[in-house]
Amino acid sequence: KRPHTRLPEWLKTPIPTNSNYKKIKKDLRGLGLHTVCEEARCPNISDCWGGDNKNAATATIMLMGDTCTRGCRFCSVKTSNKPPPLDPHEPENTAEALKRWGLGYVVLTSVDRDDLVDGGARHFAETIVKIKQKAPHILVEALTGDYAGDLEMVKLVAQSGLDVYAHNMETTEELTPFVRDRRAKFRQSLAVLKAAKEAKPELITKTSIMLGLGETEDALYATLRELRAVGVDVVTFGQYMRPTKRHMKVEEYVTPATFELWRQRALDAGFLYCASGPLVRSSYKAGEAFIENVLK
Ligand code: SF4
Ligand code: SF4
Repeated sequence: KRPHTRLPEWLKTPIPTNSNYKKIKKDLRGLGLHTVCEEARCPNISDCWGGDNKNAATATIMLMGDTCTRGCRFCSVKTSNKPPPLDPHEPENTAEALKRWGLGYVVLTSVDRDDLVDGGARHFAETIVKIKQKAPHILVEALTGDYAGDLEMVKLVAQSGLDVYAHNMETTEELTPFVRDRRAKFRQSLAVLKAAKEAKPELITKTSIMLGLGETEDALYATLRELRAVGVDVVTFGQYMRPTKRHMKVEEYVTPATFELWRQRALDAGFLYCASGPLVRSSYKAGEAFIENVLK
């Protein structure tokens, strides 16, 4: 075996066992919700759904179907120019289901829908409004696409009542054309985060960066500075994992110590908090982090 095809020890994870996790999983049956946590077999499910503080239990829900109009080179979501139409009942049904589920924090995310005039922004915003009406105790994070640079759509979502607006940069400026779909641009994504903050300054804005794609230290530092310059509050770092052989290869398995270094560097750069680790995903324990750092 070639060394880079073997996973380092720190990327192997135990099977979840704790009781809060089991309860939330049981409650999920019959609610008709599709969680990214389960469908992507996320290794963090025990940390996010479990834990002692039930109010911090976090899950990620995928809206607007399972077919994306884009094709990023790191992502395994299926692609089509003409995905099926939106389900008009989804905002209501999602809110109703979340009301009955024992979560404290929900991350709503979606595929990119370049086929829709508004990119699905109205549908997204309506879902947030309905959740806040039916279950005001749930903290809501929206992890959106870039709406093809339509900042009015960003504003619409930012002002829908959510608590955290997330949009992922994924990588540095120089690697963006090799990593993300050609319609996803580094400057456009920065503009999205800036617009969300300007639309509602008390909103927490957040982004996520994958390490292990061949990014340089200097380029990462530069990215952090650019993010702070547009007021981004939170950054997360995780290891890029290749979903299949057809996707771009991993350049490096970054060590836990280097992830910790970047967490410190992010805090030094002025970010409010930072989750950083080989298995960290942008929604990793997002509820707990929000409660500890924002509501304290
Ligand atoms: Fe779910 Fe995100 Fe946590 Fe994974 S990191 S279990 S996808 S909330
Ligand atoms: Fe995957 Fe998002 Fe890129 Fe679509 S836009 S291919 S869902 S990363």
